[in-house]
Amino acid sequence: MIIEIDDQSGFCFGVVKAIQKAESELQEGHPLYCLGDIVHNTSEVRRLEEKGMYTIDYTALHSLNKAKVLFRAHGEPPSTYQLAQQQGLTIVDATCPVVLQLQKSIRNTYKKHRGEARQIVIFGKKGHAEVNGLVGQTEGKAIVIETLEEADLLNYNLPIEVFSQTTKPLADFQRLVAKIKSRMASGVEFLFHDTICRQVALRLPHIAEFARKHDYIFFIAGKKSSNGKALFAECQKANPRSLFISNSSELTLEMLPKISYDKLSIGICGATSTPRYQMEAVKDRILTLVHQKK
Ligand code: SF4
Repeated sequence: MIIEIDDQSGFCFGVVKAIQKAESELQEGHPLYCLGDIVHNTSEVRRLEEKGMYTIDYTALHSLNKAKVLFRAHGEPPSTYQLAQQQGLTIVDATCPVVLQLQKSIRNTYKKHRGEARQIVIFGKKGHAEVNGLVGQTEGKAIVIETLEEADLLNYNLPIEVFSQTTKPLADFQRLVAKIKSRMASGVEFLFHDTICRQVALRLPHIAEFARKHDYIFFIAGKKSSNGKALFAECQKANPRSLFISNSSELTLEMLPKISYDKLSIGICGATSTPRYQMEAVKDRILTLVHQKK
C-alpha cells in the first residue's frame, strides 16, 4: 500500500507567520488575546490556547483593557485598530503581507476617487473577516459581490473598479471580469485587479492532479474553512473517492476501502489551515486500522 501526504497542502506562509508571532508572544509568558480563530482549525487553536492564548470575539474586545491582542492573517478594518487604541490595547499585528498590500491598494483607490460616482467592487464572501477588513478601507462604501449573478446589481453607466478577496477561485474572478466588461456602457472606465493569492490559487490545479494520482483521498480540514471547502470540491471532482474529515479520530475502519490493501494508493491532503501534524496523524491512523484488520 502507498500512502502519500501532499507536500503542497498545509499552512500558507500568512498563517505560518501569524502562528509564529503568537508563539513568540506566548513564550514571554503574558496572556495573549486573539481576535477570532487564528486559523480555521480547531486542533491548532486548542494547541495555542493550551499555551495561554485566548480566542475572543468582537463583543469581548469591547470589554478588554490594557492587554495584548493579536490580529490574525485575515486583517482588520481601521475601526478595529481605533477601538484597540481607545482601550489601551497593545496590537500584535499578524495581518498577512499579501492582505496588507491589498488593503493599501483599495484604500488608495478610494482616496483618489473620493466623492466620485465610482463603484469599488470587492469580489468576496460577505461578512468574511478579510472582506470586512477590505470594505473598511473605503469607509464601508465598497460593494461586495459574492456570485456572478450579483454583478447584475451594478450600474454599468458609472465607472467600476474590481478587486478580489485573496482566496476566491481565479476562474470565477475571470468570469466576473468578462461579464462586467461585456456590460459596460461605451466609454465608461472599467478597471480590475487580480488580487488572488497564488498560495491558494495554485493549489486548486495541483490538488486535482494529486487526487487523480491516488485510488482514495482523505482530505483534512476544519469544517469552517472556506478554502477547505473549495479544495475538497476540486478533489472530489478529480476523484469521487475523496473523503472529508476534520481530524484522525473521525477516521473509522468502515471508511477504508474494502479491496486488497496491497494494491491501494491513498493520498492525504488538506487546506491552507491544516497543520502537517494532522495529516501525519491520519497516515498513522490508517496504518493502525489496516494492521488491526489484518
Ligand atoms: S492565503 Fe495568501 S493572502 Fe491569505 S493568509 Fe495565506 S498567504 Fe496570506
